[in-house]
Amino acid sequence: MRRKIVAGNWKMNKTNAEAVETLKKLAANIADIKGVSVVIGAPFTTLSDAVKAVEGTNVEIAAQNCNPKDSGAYTGEISPVMLKAIGVNYVILGHSERREYYGETNEFVNEKVKACLAHGLTPILCVGEKLEDREAGNTEAVVEDHTRGGFAGLTKEEAAKVVVAYEPVWAIGTGKTATPEQAQEVHAFIRKLLTSMYDAETAAEITVQYGGSMNAANAAELMAKEDIDGGLVGGASLDADTFAIVVKGAL
Ligand code: PEP
Repeated sequence: MRRKIVAGNWKMNKTNAEAVETLKKLAANIADIKGVSVVIGAPFTTLSDAVKAVEGTNVEIAAQNCNPKDSGAYTGEISPVMLKAIGVNYVILGHSERREYYGETNEFVNEKVKACLAHGLTPILCVGEKLEDREAGNTEAVVEDHTRGGFAGLTKEEAAKVVVAYEPVWAIGTGKTATPEQAQEVHAFIRKLLTSMYDAETAAEITVQYGGSMNAANAAELMAKEDIDGGLVGGASLDADTFAIVVKGAL
């Protein structure tokens, strides 16, 4: 059965020293927690020390992006091989900010998903509609396009290892959260879609997180929904005390 996973996405925040300090505090805050995986997506510059800072604790480390190639002439890029070598376990892929500001396509995201799986890293595949999509009644079409695109060519054994993060773009960093009912509706749609793409058993294995202004006040209510298996959390993950409350919302 799928795991609940609460992941923080620190984006372009925190120096190395700040990251290590926050991670140590977070690990202490959630030391007694069982039954939920806790992950922090830290900036590249902090990853090596981040992994060391959480050694022997409940916290795991994610990168926020990677290149699909193993190595080569790709200036400025970081490969799954490099991430695996320092002890990173997860990679956030296809985040709406990367799709929007860096032109990432479904095809490129899919290459990265495959590369991560090939190197034993868990991809967190972000999918989600913009406000204009929702208002035009296109939420399901966009979510289906991102999901099919990200999973293209995966076997069901591979698919079962992917984490999906449903992140309505209109809710990211806006303080505007999807209601638990709105989110559950899309999560159920994703589960049904994954069932049609693979089978019910595989779909039941896949963790589908909600992301979009999840915070200490709304996390428990969102994650109580049947198909909401955790969260991908931006702003509310930056502070170790606040994020510990969000994590406890998954219990
Ligand atoms: C995100 O960027 O993945 C996110 C969900 O951000 P926030 O929680 O700040 O809306």
